[in-house]
Amino acid sequence: PAKPIYAGQLPAGLQTISNIIAVSSCKGGVGKSTVAVNLAYTLADMGARVGIFDADVYGPSLPTMVSPEKRILEMNAEKRTIIPTEYMGVKLVSFGFAGQGRAIMRGPMVSGVINQLLTTTEWGELDYLVIDMPPGTGDIQLTLCQVVPLTAAVIVTTPQKLAFIDVAKGVRMFSKLKVPCVAVVENMCHFDADGKRYYPFGRGSGSQVVQQFGIPHLFDLPIQPALSASGDSGMPEVVADPQGEVSRTFQELGVCV
Ligand code: ADP
Repeated sequence: PAKPIYAGQLPAGLQTISNIIAVSSCKGGVGKSTVAVNLAYTLADMGARVGIFDADVYGPSLPTMVSPEKRILEMNAEKRTIIPTEYMGVKLVSFGFAGQGRAIMRGPMVSGVINQLLTTTEWGELDYLVIDMPPGTGDIQLTLCQVVPLTAAVIVTTPQKLAFIDVAKGVRMFSKLKVPCVAVVENMCHFDADGKRYYPFGRGSGSQVVQQFGIPHLFDLPIQPALSASGDSGMPEVVADPQGEVSRTFQELGVCV
């Protein structure tokens, strides 16, 4: 997709990146990081140069979901920049690789630290940077969206009716910032057992979001033990099983962004 016109001054560290995709959710635990990581590795498999920025200061999940050999970010002391670590060709930056204990910070400080880590990284030439956003639509998220010229947003949610209100908030935040929401991923929508399909959280709120806000794509991601296991093992499911159902869903999502 074409790059949006960015009003602010583009931070130097981001000038070599063609597309920046935000993967966002309105609360934690819905599978945002799972989607961000698998989307990134799908884009890499399609031949793109990709990086992942895990913007979650409080609970970074990237170090669990991927297992690079080097688990600590290096600094270039002279240039005062950060060199990303790498796993299977994808560049990775996360607070979980920063080598400190869990941060205790107030909102404005968190924003400063996120922006600094993001913009002082030597990303190099990238076709896509996938940002695993902190959950929610508060000041931290808003500030991050204002600093970064986002190309598109993907919103991850679960099918409950309650989630609809939160998703609507997310869509409105991106629309105010003139960032197109290209897809909603409805995660944990169903599971199959004994030849039957079960919908533990109900059905229909994803399609309601898509209709009401005119979002072009809706993807269903079922509850799959393999997805959870791969999240814990450090190898993304799309890498572990490139021909599987999950990989096919992510290939379709990859085409949308
Ligand atoms: P978030 O980033 O929204 O907090 P995560 O991506 O970390 O959520 O997912 C939370 C947990 O749920 C992880 O352990 C992950 O492996 C698991 N998980 C996410 N989506 C699925 C799914 N579709 N099927 C099975 N487990 C899942």
